[in-house]
Amino acid sequence: MDPEHVDGDLEKILFTEEEIQSKLAEMARSIERDYEGKDLLLVGVLKGAIMVMADLSRHLSRHVEQDWMAISSYGSGTRSSGVVRIVKDLDTDITDRHVLVVEDIIDTGLTLSWLVSNLRSRGPASVEVCTLLRKPEAAKTAVEVRYVGYDIPNAFVVGYGLDFAERYRNLRVVGTLAPHVYS
Ligand code: 5GP
Ligand code: MG
Ligand code: MG
Repeated sequence: MDPEHVDGDLEKILFTEEEIQSKLAEMARSIERDYEGKDLLLVGVLKGAIMVMADLSRHLSRHVEQDWMAISSYGSGTRSSGVVRIVKDLDTDITDRHVLVVEDIIDTGLTLSWLVSNLRSRGPASVEVCTLLRKPEAAKTAVEVRYVGYDIPNAFVVGYGLDFAERYRNLRVVGTLAPHVYS
């Protein structure tokens, strides 16, 4: 869906389709270099990472396997608590595998930090993280993120997999939501 269809719902477009795609292509080049000669399993975190997974993986000129996890974090309100439940686990045994977690956005990093230690406990060869977007607070968490697309300010963004009440995931751009939509 093009941004014109939600004209008025977005306050500001932060990244256009072209900007997102060229950033993902650049990230794909780094991933190809770093994993040369190694097999690679991309693990997407549902549902936000669907678009990043689809496009990042297609920018890779190498074999790659893809699997998915769905996790839900408990907690009151809109902040993540770091207490996480697996809703859908991997189909893949990751023992001795090189795992790259594919994320849409890292905010507090609490969910991710839980996920990375969960994956590390399964005996993989390596676990690294790539994300299209990262907010300032993510810097405070222990999880090292190997590949970051864009560092963004602390605002609520939608589009390109990211939702507000399950809407806007199908936008080709990433933008901030106009206050009238959520107030
Ligand atoms: P964290 O545990 O890093 O605080 O939470 C990350 C998750 O919160 C993301 O995967 C995403 O689902 C949600 N999230 C964090 N910031 C935003 C945002 O700006 N927009 C949207 N739509 N979701 C966000
Ligand atoms: Mg996510
Ligand atoms: Mg959401």
